[in-house]
Amino acid sequence: MSAQKRGIIKRVNSMLAKKEISCKELTQKYLDEIKKSELNAYISLSEDEAMASAENVDKKISSGEEVDVLAGIPMTLKDNISTSGIETTCASKILRGYRPIYDASAWKTLKDKGAVLLGKTNMDEFAMGSSCENSCIGGAKNPHNTGYVTGGSSGGGASAVAGNIAAYALGSDTGGSIRQPASFCGIVGLKPTYGSVSRYGLIAYGSGFDQIGPLTQTAEDASIIFDAIAGYDPMDSTSNPNYEPNSYESLNNDIKGLKIGIPKEYYDGVDEEVRKPIEEAMKVYESLGAKIEHFSLPEVKYTLPVYYILVCAEAASNLARFDGVRYGYRTEHYKDINEMMCKTRSEGFGAEVKRRILLGNYVLSSGYYDAYYKKAQNLRKVIMSAFYEAFKKYDVLLTPVSPTTAFPANKSYSNPQEIYLADICTVPVNTVGIPGISVPCGFDSKGLPIGMQILGDKFSESKILNVAHKYEIATDYVNNKCLDMGVRL
Ligand code: GLN
Repeated sequence: MSAQKRGIIKRVNSMLAKKEISCKELTQKYLDEIKKSELNAYISLSEDEAMASAENVDKKISSGEEVDVLAGIPMTLKDNISTSGIETTCASKILRGYRPIYDASAWKTLKDKGAVLLGKTNMDEFAMGSSCENSCIGGAKNPHNTGYVTGGSSGGGASAVAGNIAAYALGSDTGGSIRQPASFCGIVGLKPTYGSVSRYGLIAYGSGFDQIGPLTQTAEDASIIFDAIAGYDPMDSTSNPNYEPNSYESLNNDIKGLKIGIPKEYYDGVDEEVRKPIEEAMKVYESLGAKIEHFSLPEVKYTLPVYYILVCAEAASNLARFDGVRYGYRTEHYKDINEMMCKTRSEGFGAEVKRRILLGNYVLSSGYYDAYYKKAQNLRKVIMSAFYEAFKKYDVLLTPVSPTTAFPANKSYSNPQEIYLADICTVPVNTVGIPGISVPCGFDSKGLPIGMQILGDKFSESKILNVAHKYEIATDYVNNKCLDMGVRL
């Protein structure tokens, strides 16, 4: 396996173990490159914390103490993942200055293993968006071409990993926010099964859809991170008490005889340039002994309206807590508490967030609840059953991640639906609660990366990571054309 396909985590781990570089030197390199970078990938840096963790790891290594594979690896977190004492803003003016008093469980796990947090990454405000441009600091830039968006909402993390200013990132995926930016930036993004990674400390957008997951250079890296952060957490009542992932070991499993379903509706309206490399990937899988079968999954066409109705309803409820009383921003001039809350929310939230709060309250309001919210809940069950049936026949499904490659930056849209439509291939996974992984599989004529998506049944992360890994090692595909940027190892 070439070093590049092996990913960066094992490589850095071995460099640190052999003392080819100290963790402090490595961390400093990353911090220097972040400061030079024009990618706008970071919202804030945590230099002091990063150097302190690095020093700690160096001490352990020099005293011969055994350390975790993730110890000393410089990484980043999306700015909606709570970090004790470190500003967490969700890229929103309303949370400016907010420093959580506790760590999100997924971060706490990595921190305890010695992970080095470089800073918090850029995102669409409250994770609402598909371009990262709904951020209070402006969008992150695509390292492959800075005139294009990174995708969103975890755009900063994807940009940082592709641009080599973080070894890996944690993002969150409610309707594609890990997979779509991964595909736009030419890296791997895993959205785990709902309930496999604790949501404790992840600032909620759509609680019934949100999941934390890794953005990495390779499937191997994704499996290392996934195994570390997945598992039961008593602080999250939706986390599964019986799941103990061992996806890393499964990377050696053979995929001979694997049944791959191709749901044809996912390919409707998808750019020819995006479809082609995925069709090539099908041939790669066939050459590895997998069986490809095309089939119809018509229920998938209902997912976009179902998702946007339900997720806005959940967002309207989740975001009611930001009122200027306890956290972050508060308006300056007000007569009474009502005016204070109203002005704080009007001034603190961006346009897209306000639109979704309004939409969400509308579909939940009396007279509309049955017509929209309830109908969407019922349809959600129909979509779930269709996927469960599909997984009785197929081990995994192979689809596009997005109908197009990255959009040009600062594009104006005639209406919000135009950008919502771009989520058509990613929202089903969250609506059903299953895992999905985005894997780079080519470049378009403009040199922008293309991703393919592998979907599996609930708690089948080991399987989809293995299927992704097999493609990476069977092809000579170089997934990161940005190796001349950022930290060169
Ligand atoms: N683009 C989708 C939305 O805006 C998904 C976002 C996400 O996964 N957080 O809702």
